[in-house]
Amino acid sequence: MSGRICLTTDQAFAAGFDEPCEHQVPNPAECPKCRLTEAEILRLAVLVRGATSATSPAPRAAAA
Ligand SMILES: [Zn+2]
Repeated sequence: MSGRICLTTDQAFAAGFDEPCEHQVPNPAECPKCRLTEAEILRLAVLVRGATSATSPAPRAAAA
């Protein structure tokens, strides 16, 4: 517990965004451990694609 109180979600987000990550890398986007790896991004992309296609009827089956 840091004892810091955030007033709004925007402030909380900004505070977390500006702080160094737990690996003491000033910019978390440059931290190899916090940053998403290419494999992780690909996996997420597949999940998103699966989620979006699941909500709509299969276009190929409908076209055939
Ligand atoms: Zn990190």
